[in-house]
Amino acid sequence: MSKTYIYLDNAATTRISDRVFNAMQPYLRESYGNPGGIYSLGREAARALRDSRLMCAKALSCEQGEIYFTSGGSESDNWAILSAAESMREQGKNRIVTTPFEHKAVLNTVKALEKRGFETVYLPVYENGVVRAEDAERVIDGKTALVTIMYVNNEIGTIQPVREIGEICGKKGVLFHTDAVQAAPHMVIDTEKDGIDYLSVSGHKLHGPKGVGLLYCRKGAPLVPFVNGGTQEHGLRAGTENLASIVGLAEAMAETKENAEIENKTVLPLTKKITEALDKTKGARFNGDRTKRIPSILNYSFEGIESESLVLQLDLKGIACAGGSACTSGDVLPSHVLMSLGMSEELARGGLRISLGRYNTEAEINIFIRELTGILEKLRRLRD
Ligand SMILES: *Cc1c(COP(=O)(O)O)cnc(C)c1O
Repeated sequence: MSKTYIYLDNAATTRISDRVFNAMQPYLRESYGNPGGIYSLGREAARALRDSRLMCAKALSCEQGEIYFTSGGSESDNWAILSAAESMREQGKNRIVTTPFEHKAVLNTVKALEKRGFETVYLPVYENGVVRAEDAERVIDGKTALVTIMYVNNEIGTIQPVREIGEICGKKGVLFHTDAVQAAPHMVIDTEKDGIDYLSVSGHKLHGPKGVGLLYCRKGAPLVPFVNGGTQEHGLRAGTENLASIVGLAEAMAETKENAEIENKTVLPLTKKITEALDKTKGARFNGDRTKRIPSILNYSFEGIESESLVLQLDLKGIACAGGSACTSGDVLPSHVLMSLGMSEELARGGLRISLGRYNTEAEINIFIRELTGILEKLRRLRD
């Protein structure tokens, strides 16, 4: 990739930080032992695994025994939801409360459970993309097995009232899972105070490696075996540990926690610059909530313009941004997130997600704004 590439898709994935990269390297070629080995190379690996678990536990204010390493956010979501559902069904509970704008890893797991006799209640997310805790309180009943609501939405960046929902779930004795994949890179999370039973984190969304993540499972919350085999991950998920990546994930979580506030502060003026420019742009519409959001994810729709063409035109200028819509066999589908806010299909097809990260600079943002407004003008001229 050319040096001038401007990367504004940090909600899709992020670059590994230098600190993470350096921490991982020894575990690929020098300390490559199996943590199960009783000789020194194995013990060294086991020590790194323990240290990593401790670092992750510290970052989430929980205990080491509550951290389970996985292959990423999707697996953590699957494991938590399936565990809660399977265990609660034995008590005659078969209802799951969620939202229509969860990540597909949650939505499709819930759909799979519907085929096995579970019922789903979808809470409204309103026009601003924020769930209301009182709605959760209203729908939870004696049949409810699990509430699963994301911490921060990955397309529009809105923050959900997790602590209030956690409190309600605690009072009503209902299990609570939150997909915190987009929250972990930007917020300090306290699993205890938030009343969370299960929480999913992914390495590659916080400047760590891909293919690794973790599931926090509160001590006492049900967790079913996920991969049968050896005794790894407290005997519930077998397979020789992905040690270098686990070390990288732990380092990324520590680095993120140390720098979260500073980073948000440096990103804030950059996103402000973008919103100021786009709010003045004809036909541009801000999606989400102006205040209940993390600063790094912005989403705009542009009347009469599909995000797909914007993404491709920006790419020609060396800028990476995401269209809100998924592309399935050539068809551009409207974003399920934007549709859930009650937007028209046309606008939901036009959502452009701009997600910033710690490596973005003011100079890059200036170029981005100039190029995007230029492209919009050109597209409008072609259309009119
Ligand atoms: C990226 C993402 C996931 C999936 O994480 P992977 O590690 O890529 O499996 C899940 N939930 C949200 C909100 C995400 O943004």
